[in-house]
Order: sequence, then C-alpha cells, then structure tokens
Amino acid sequence: MYDVKVERTSAPKQKPLDESKLGFGTIFTDHMLMIEYDKGQGWHDARIVPYGPIAMDPAAMCLHYGQEIFEGMKAYRGDDGSVYLFRPQENFKRLNSSCERMCIPQMDEELLLESLKMLVELDSGWIPAAKDSSLYIRPFIIATEPKLGVKSSDSYLYMVLLSPSGPYYPSGLDPVKIYVEQSYVRSVRGGTGMVKTGGNYAAALKAQDEAHEQDYSQVLWLDGVERKYIEEVGAMNMFFVLGDEVVTPALLGSILPGITRKSVIEMLRSWGMKVSERRISIDEVAEAYKNGQLKEAFGTGTAAVISPVGELKHGDLVMTINGGKIGPVSQRLYDALTAIQWGRAEDPFGWRV
Ligand code: PMP
Repeated sequence: MYDVKVERTSAPKQKPLDESKLGFGTIFTDHMLMIEYDKGQGWHDARIVPYGPIAMDPAAMCLHYGQEIFEGMKAYRGDDGSVYLFRPQENFKRLNSSCERMCIPQMDEELLLESLKMLVELDSGWIPAAKDSSLYIRPFIIATEPKLGVKSSDSYLYMVLLSPSGPYYPSGLDPVKIYVEQSYVRSVRGGTGMVKTGGNYAAALKAQDEAHEQDYSQVLWLDGVERKYIEEVGAMNMFFVLGDEVVTPALLGSILPGITRKSVIEMLRSWGMKVSERRISIDEVAEAYKNGQLKEAFGTGTAAVISPVGELKHGDLVMTINGGKIGPVSQRLYDALTAIQWGRAEDPFGWRV
C-alpha cells in the first residue's frame, strides 16, 4: 500500500448539468493529485487535494526552459456504472521514458497507477454518462527549482488533473481533411519527438494555425531530414491501407509511440491482417492512390480513437480517400476499440483496468 493522503474538498463544485456541452479540457473535477520530488529525498508527499491554483516561484525552471512532460488518457463509464481505464500501465511506462529523455527522475509506476485509481474513484461522480463521453486524465511533471541557470532541475512536481469531456465526434465518426506539411518539421531522430514534452506541441502550433486558416484539421508531418517519409499527425499516429497491407510508420525515434497505435497493430494482427511497421514515403502513398491501392488512411490517438482521413493534400495533388467516407477497416477498429474501452464487449487482450 502506498501512503497517499486525501484532503477532501469542503466546497464541491456544481457538476456540468448539460453533458452535451462538455467540449474538451475546460472543466475540472473537485480534486487533483500531487507528488513532489526533491534531490536527496526522492518522490515524496503523495496527496489528493481540492482542485485549485498552485503557488510557484516565477523563477521555476519549467517556466523558462520547458523541462516538463505529460500524459493523456481517459476513464470510461460503462453502461452498468463500472469505471474503466484503458492500458494505463502503458501511459505510465511512456511517462517514465519521457522522464528519462527530459532528465526528470523516474517514478514508481505502481504508485502512479494506485494513486490515479484513488483520484478517479474519489471524483468518479464526474465521469459523464452520455454516450462516447469520458473523463480525460492529464498527468504531468514540471521542473520547480527556482533558478535561471540552464541545467536539469533539483525539484519537480507531479500532478494529475481530471476533466469531463464530450465525444470527439459529436455527430458520429467523421473523416477529416489534412495536408502534408512542407514548410515546417516537427522532430528529427535524436530530438524529442518520441516523448510527450510541451515543447513539441508549442513548436507545432504555427503549422496547426496555418492548417486551420485553410480549413484543414491537421497537418501530416514528414521526416525532418529528407522531408520524404511520413511521421504522424497532430496528436495521432498514421495508418494507411494499401491493398491488403496495413502500413504505419516505424518507431525510429522521432514519432510518439501511441498506445492506440500499439493496440490497433495488435488488434489487426489478431484479425489475421497484415500490418507492417516500416518507413513509408509520401510518394509511395501518392503512387498507391494513383493505382487505386490506397484504400483507407486513418489516425489513431486517445482523443479520437480512430480518425479516418477523407482528404489528403500533397502540394497540388488532392487525394480523396475511399470517396471521402469512412472505410471498413477504420469503422471496424473504432467499433471494436470503443466497445472494449466502454466495457460493452469482452476484453480478450486484457486491456481494461
Ligand atoms: N502522436 C502524438 C504527437 C500525440 O500527442 C499523441 C497523443 N498522445 C499520439 C500520437 C497518440 O498517442 P496515444 O494513442 O497514446 O494517445
């Protein structure tokens, strides 16, 4: 048993009355989790406290040099009222690999899971019941040492926030339009693209803003060296159905190893489908499109689960994929994954917690 102190709020907030208006990431529950780190002492003082602002020295290193990492996952309410997490151990493994890259001391993954369960249980009344809505979970770590010298911090704060969120697709699974980014790059091997640190997302904002201005939902990143091979999209990994092969970019150090990606690969293989993790160039995708072999393209991530791509633009070439409609592989994956996540089906893989 871990020692996690609990200070309950004396002033519970009003829960959202209309679950159809939750949106994403703007409403927070009554409590939050905190664990501190100090050099020489290690991680200590795990506690659940009422949600609220935190005091921080303005010289805290995270504010200046971006030494921080985060995770994203969800809790789901099943039809019978049960509460589920989806492969949370994978998120905590990835949290530690982000820590390793960003020079943040690693954490006990069992403590992370046990303390998360306590927090989610305490605030379980905030998990929306409306279809396809969930409780978004945001663990993160910030460097708190007050010092302006550039070095890794001697103190850190781990926190978890919970945010009731509506369905990603309020009117059902809907194919998105994306374009291949040709000006900016997200990451290179040896950089930080394979971990979840805020700087990756800050550096991607400009491309995202430009895409939105042109009415595209995201950009598809190419590798930062040859500007040729497909990497990933916004906050999603990419898959292409080329004939009877499903291809996703290999994890070579510049893209985030998504947990949905991993689950999709395992699920497709369990269905007897051929899945390749390899380098795939945008030219190969364009060629397959011209030959009629590009059957489907979709992104995978915690937020949307599966996000079919209806239009992929590369320079002057506009590829309309599967007639701009949801393809059979995307639909089957979406149905099977969400059924496991919301407890509506058996869980042959043992992914639910
Ligand atoms: N790539 C990036 C850059 C992301 O931020 C995310 C979201 N965490 C993903 C891929 C998908 O990862 P996951 O399936 O674990 O949500």
